[in-house]
Amino acid sequence: MTNSLDEFNDILSPDESLAQHTWLKLGGNAERFYTPTCRDQLLSLIRACVAAEVPVRVFGSGSNLLIRDGGVSGSVIRISDPLLSEIKVDGNAVTAGGGALLSHVVSESVRAGLAGLENLVGIPGTVGGAIVGNAGGRHADIGEFVRKVEVVTRDGEVVERTGDELTFAYRSSSITDLAVLSVTLQLRPDDSDDLTVRMKKIWIMKRSTQPLADQSAGCIFRNPRGLSAGALIEQCGLKDLAVGEARISDRHANFVVTGPGATSADVESLIDKVRIAVAEKFGVELELEIRKW
Ligand SMILES: Cc1cc2nc3c(=O)[nH]c(=O)nc-3n(C[C@H](O)[C@H](O)[C@H](O)COP(=O)(O)OP(=O)(O)OC[C@H]3O[C@@H](n4cnc5c(N)ncnc54)[C@H](O)[C@@H]3O)c2cc1C
Repeated sequence: MTNSLDEFNDILSPDESLAQHTWLKLGGNAERFYTPTCRDQLLSLIRACVAAEVPVRVFGSGSNLLIRDGGVSGSVIRISDPLLSEIKVDGNAVTAGGGALLSHVVSESVRAGLAGLENLVGIPGTVGGAIVGNAGGRHADIGEFVRKVEVVTRDGEVVERTGDELTFAYRSSSITDLAVLSVTLQLRPDDSDDLTVRMKKIWIMKRSTQPLADQSAGCIFRNPRGLSAGALIEQCGLKDLAVGEARISDRHANFVVTGPGATSADVESLIDKVRIAVAEKFGVELELEIRKW
């Protein structure tokens, strides 16, 4: 039996400011913001939204989102630690809930002497967010370790995706389902101390090149094939370019950093300026890596 949406009012925050939940700290409100506390409640809520034909979006930890100033209509459901945050190690496989923080999964696997995920150190956000966007960097992407993903489809059904149903490309995946519930990653055994050293080295390198003390959403643009978006922006002389309280980081030109009072319109206008300058100078159309709601 499908529940009515009214039965979820105790986990509903109407007209919730999403700015407080996103890493850029800006943007409008969600008409209905739900914070489920367990898997069963999450599934019943999704099914109630589907039955009521209310549009649904899933929110992880907001580290890759630019929320428009006008906000978001319909339901936004938060899947983030402590919801679905279990991490289990079984042989060379690690299974993590979609709400687990990627950083926790990285450290658990390194502690267990399993190699692969140490390459993803320093990437904020949840496992669910990492899977849909195939999060990664210079040394690896999460998709290469994925063996199985458990999802909720847009009809509210729980399904396991494996094999050909799972494809990953640069910052994208074949998963277009509504929600990632859990992921099983296949890793390789290695020495835990060696992995810790490697992880620390990658982290130090990352910290020295990225503006991690500032408010940002990571890289704004995807790297065009064979090129670095940051280098193209830098070669246009745009480091430190600002619109309102949003500016191009002087540390890494593919990061937009925001200060108090920044609006989504500031960021969008800055993005447009960068795109125009790079297209004019290099004939390259930059595509967004962040997701705009
Ligand atoms: C300082 C900084 C550094 C970063 N460095 C990197 C980096 O090196 N490499 C990299 O790839 N990214 C990087 N990012 C971007 C970001 O961390 C990743 O994209 C991250 O995986 C997003 O996870 P999230 O939980 O915050 O997702 P959110 O921002 O909340 O959501 C992003 C998208 O994922 C979807 N989503 C989230 N959870 C689920 C779920 N359970 N089921 C289905 N869909 C879901 C949302 O609907 C949305 O479309 C960085 C960001 C910051 C702020």
